[in-house]
Amino acid sequence: MGHFHVVGAGLAGLACAVALSRAGRPVTLYEAAPQAGGRCRSYFDDHLGRTIDNGNHLLMSGNTVALAFVDTIGSRDTLTGPDRAEFPFVDLRTNQRWVVRPGASPLPWWLLVPSRRVPQTRLADYRSGLGLLFAGCAATVNEVFDPAGALYQRFWEPLAVAALNCDPTEGAAALLRPVLLRTFGRGAAYCQPLVAARGLSETFADPAVRFIEAHGGTVCFGATLRATEWRDDTPIALRFDSESVPIASGDRVVLAAPPTAVQRLLPGLTVPEGSNAIVNAHMRFDGPVDWPWRAPLAGLIGGTAQWIFHRDDIVSVTVSAADALAEQPSEDIAAILWQDVARALGRSDVTPPAIRVVKEKRATFHQTPAQVARRPGPRTRWPGVFLAGDWTDTGLPATIEGAILSGERAAREAMTSR
Ligand SMILES: Cc1cc2nc3c(=O)[nH]c(=O)nc-3n(C[C@H](O)[C@H](O)[C@H](O)COP(=O)(O)OP(=O)(O)OC[C@H]3O[C@@H](n4cnc5c(N)ncnc54)[C@H](O)[C@@H]3O)c2cc1C
Repeated sequence: MGHFHVVGAGLAGLACAVALSRAGRPVTLYEAAPQAGGRCRSYFDDHLGRTIDNGNHLLMSGNTVALAFVDTIGSRDTLTGPDRAEFPFVDLRTNQRWVVRPGASPLPWWLLVPSRRVPQTRLADYRSGLGLLFAGCAATVNEVFDPAGALYQRFWEPLAVAALNCDPTEGAAALLRPVLLRTFGRGAAYCQPLVAARGLSETFADPAVRFIEAHGGTVCFGATLRATEWRDDTPIALRFDSESVPIASGDRVVLAAPPTAVQRLLPGLTVPEGSNAIVNAHMRFDGPVDWPWRAPLAGLIGGTAQWIFHRDDIVSVTVSAADALAEQPSEDIAAILWQDVARALGRSDVTPPAIRVVKEKRATFHQTPAQVARRPGPRTRWPGVFLAGDWTDTGLPATIEGAILSGERAAREAMTSR
């Protein structure tokens, strides 16, 4: 049996190596960083004295691929969320507050009850959601919805910016469709918010590494793939800093690194270009936070902060499509975001807590119709070489669900290809 070489231990590479080792295939996973998880990881922050995530990550109960993955690696119990689907919102300009609570049925009967709708919206406004079902590949989000309407500003826009990490004037509407169909489109059981209770690494990365090793696989950290050596079009060695790993005939290589790195390794491969930033600010309070909602997150409208999350004594803010904000000094960002948080929590009297700003400048690829069209599938024209990553053509946005799906798909392709 040939050996499987997986490059990149983000969620795509981990999911690929988990699937391969689970199927009894010999696998080595190479990761440039000293830890697994890639863009979905935790670390200890000295300033806050807490373990924090590189960014808040939201999963929904409709993310069935991701949930099956955490079941496999044995970390499902580290995901937490309310037992009902509910999404609190605050309009920071008016302090108006509401909670979106989808009903159990896939048909949105709950919209017939005016008090359950987003404030200042009419039943007829929700027809705009149907436009998404028929959105073509070239359509952007704000070509599908009416950007002037309250429903857009208070629901569609925050949802689209969070899901696509892209300004709605540019974001691909077609990528938002599967998000909606797999969650809100299936009823409340599929849109319960879930977060990693003890941090992303404890839910996704560390148990996956343990699973791979327990199933006979090897995980190498600090292993940056610098180049691939070829004979004709077939890879014969992977060149790392300190060694060259020979690729025997019958071996398979899965590249699960970001698109720029993969393109350097496979010149001529078409990949999406450009990326968008996500800015997070983690705020450590002195003592328990008086969190007013049952859900672990709330949407903020009308400020700079877009979503706030709560875990123990930490409140974290997410700002997606944050390229301009990410250019500002961290102290200025902290001050701006604290104002929004203080207003949302009614804590304007309190002195600002310790704050850590994390800028992920290349959080996801630029998810516009033009760049989505450049996503490659898992197979390449190079024999024995496969691709995984949230940027490959999964039909989903660049998310946990998409990354894991891509890794499992690449594993299947690599195992079945001749
Ligand atoms: C701040 C932030 C917030 C997010 N929020 C959400 C959210 O709420 N919900 C959600 O579903 N998704 C969210 N995402 C997206 C999600 O994190 C990603 O889609 C997912 O983690 C991508 O995984 P990946 O394996 O495709 O890529 P990566 O995580 O980028 O993994 C690639 C790996 O390859 C390694 N590598 C690179 N070059 C080499 C090389 N030459 N040799 C060896 N290794 C190499 C890298 O170090 C990295 O570990 C968020 C992302 C960010 C950054």
